Amino acid sequence: MVALGAKLSAAVGGRTAAILAEHLDLHTVGDLLRHYPRRYTERGALTPFGELVVGEYATVFAEVTKVSGRRIRDKLHKSDVTIRDADGATMTLAIFNRPYVATQLRPGRRAYFSGKVELFRQQVQLANPQYQLVDDEEGVVAEEFAGMLVPIYPAAAKAPSTLTARTVRHTLDMVDLGEDPLPEDLRRRHGLVSLESALYGIHRPADWSDVTAARTRLTWDEAFVLQVVLAQRRATTRALAGTPRTRRPGGLLDAFDASLPFVLTSGQAQVGELLSTELSEPAPMYRLLQGEVGSGKTVVALRAMLQVVDSGGQAALLAPTEVLAQQHARSLHALLGPLAAAGELGAPDLATRVALLTGSQGAAARRTALGEAAGGQAGIVVGTHALLSEGVAFADLGLVVVDEQHRFGVEQRDALRTKGRTPPHVLVMTATPIPRTIAMTVYGDLEVSTLSELPKGRAPVKSAVVPVAEKPSWLETAWHRVRQHVATGRQAFVVCPRIGGDEPEEPAADGRRPGVAVLDVHLMLVHGPLNGLRVEMLHGRMAPEDKDRVMQRFARGEVDVLVATTVIEVGVDVPNATVMVVLDAERFGVSQLHQLRGRIGRGADPALCLLVTDAEAGTPSRDRLDAVASTSDGFVLSRVDLEQRREGDVLGSTQSGARSSLRMLRLLRDEELILEARREAVALVEQDLLLAGSPALRQAVVDLLDEERADFLDKA
Ligand code: ADP
Ligand code: MG
Repeated sequence: MVALGAKLSAAVGGRTAAILAEHLDLHTVGDLLRHYPRRYTERGALTPFGELVVGEYATVFAEVTKVSGRRIRDKLHKSDVTIRDADGATMTLAIFNRPYVATQLRPGRRAYFSGKVELFRQQVQLANPQYQLVDDEEGVVAEEFAGMLVPIYPAAAKAPSTLTARTVRHTLDMVDLGEDPLPEDLRRRHGLVSLESALYGIHRPADWSDVTAARTRLTWDEAFVLQVVLAQRRATTRALAGTPRTRRPGGLLDAFDASLPFVLTSGQAQVGELLSTELSEPAPMYRLLQGEVGSGKTVVALRAMLQVVDSGGQAALLAPTEVLAQQHARSLHALLGPLAAAGELGAPDLATRVALLTGSQGAAARRTALGEAAGGQAGIVVGTHALLSEGVAFADLGLVVVDEQHRFGVEQRDALRTKGRTPPHVLVMTATPIPRTIAMTVYGDLEVSTLSELPKGRAPVKSAVVPVAEKPSWLETAWHRVRQHVATGRQAFVVCPRIGGDEPEEPAADGRRPGVAVLDVHLMLVHGPLNGLRVEMLHGRMAPEDKDRVMQRFARGEVDVLVATTVIEVGVDVPNATVMVVLDAERFGVSQLHQLRGRIGRGADPALCLLVTDAEAGTPSRDRLDAVASTSDGFVLSRVDLEQRREGDVLGSTQSGARSSLRMLRLLRDEELILEARREAVALVEQDLLLAGSPALRQAVVDLLDEERADFLDKA
């Protein structure tokens, strides 16, 4: 018997173990048994060749119709084996230097053939395939093909599905699974089979109902263990001793509310109440605020910051880039007015200061800002993430707000805890709306709030696809629309996928031309369709102070058209900008386009977003653009986006080690299951935080965290 954690070589021959390690990254018995079949073929059913995808490793079950062999050179023997599928389609395979194949692969025999699918003289072929006969001369079916359903495993050239099948089969019979990590009563409540039946059911099913039961159970394993980890994190956070920051009547927050030129939306008011309550508690708040671009997250965050300042603490606002940090500092100053002018003439007594700390500012400005942060004169300190790592000292940091940042992981949040006298409250804001269950997994240890309505009086953004392949003249019309908007005093963005200049102009792997570049488009517009307008550029290769200068001039209305890369994707807030033209729009992701579009329509005037593309109708790229043009509901679009990506990409480099550990679980498909797993996990962790009563589950948690750490190190 071998344990799940044992090295593979303890269960199978050293050579096989080495192949599986090298080609499939399988190292332990557990790795092998969690290498699940990609699909199943029904015994006896031949694989339709039409399904084969060039470039993939495939295994087909087929019948031999013809075989011949000959020596073509001194040391080279070639066998031509013709096989057929259920529809009678045939394919001829070349097998070199295995002259004995003719005696094994006689016409009428059936076998599994594995190899890389290639195109040879316009014909689909398996390159020098491996094969495995299903039965022997007497017609006795080999053990690994005895079931009704034959598992087909994800494979590599040197590690075909049949090798994995044989190895799994052998290993399953000798593994000691130990105690089941899913508690028995939980299994009973949800009708889940034991781990042992699940592993047999997935690798050696007798019928489809075995597969279904196994999949459900194995999906639960992944969802539940992950949710237990997250529930533990939340519980641990709640047990930390932070400092309550209670609301003070007659303070800055009240003064700010009285000065607001608009009424809060009901969502803003509700979330505001919630934040206010959570800040008043000793356990640090860990909350994610998601909301459409323009939904007014900044005001919500500022009100939370003011409550903290009122109670004697400080707040830090972290932005992902310097441009955004600068812009935040400016808009906080604008929103607060005299309330942020402490120490200046005529400022009210309760006023505070907003300090800005960036890497590129001058030494004197930096010294002043550092002093105000350390001395406590600055109630609010704005900067990039460098604020946390650069030995910036705070007098009493009570709240950290992280803006527009979906890559703020657990490690960074842990680092934060050491920045205050006590662990500060944390508010993460994101404008990338994601379905709730995904938020629960990606930001699993944050509580999630959503601002779903936009402030009143916003004209919706109209969007349209400009298909230059079919309607070349529409591009002219697009520039004409830009001129019209500018003529009425409005401003425009033109977005390009590339900067240009000294970038290597490699054609993409698929031979497409490189996307259009800011430098070229700027030149073209100035001398062509937008001649006479004030057109400027903004991109990531500009010096920070140049970027800032251009942004300020654009914000002041001194620039009509800004030709930019996606640097404008987040946070840029110029309500007078009413039109956006995205060039080579198919090169941007759905969420990215939605973010970009959020830069316009921030005022009361109707706004227009034009997605220019040469993608043809009916292609997936074009469908994505049509989806973006057809709705401005970020949640709908995030589903469109997620459905086209793989799970690992969905999770990205976020905290939850889930990237490598999710094999069965699909975040979109399994929403219901994730919710149930979360309920169960919370209930269990409430009773038994350290899982003392469930050693097998505790081990599964340790394994997941190990993977997460390994994953993290990989990326570092
Ligand atoms: P987000 O950060 O969510 O994209 P902002 O907080 O930048 O959105 O708000 C966008 C714009 O809407 C800002 O100009 C802001 O002052 C304004 N705004 C915020 N809340 C309201 C409201 N309740 N009514 C009217 N305008 C609002
Ligand atoms: Mg914002």
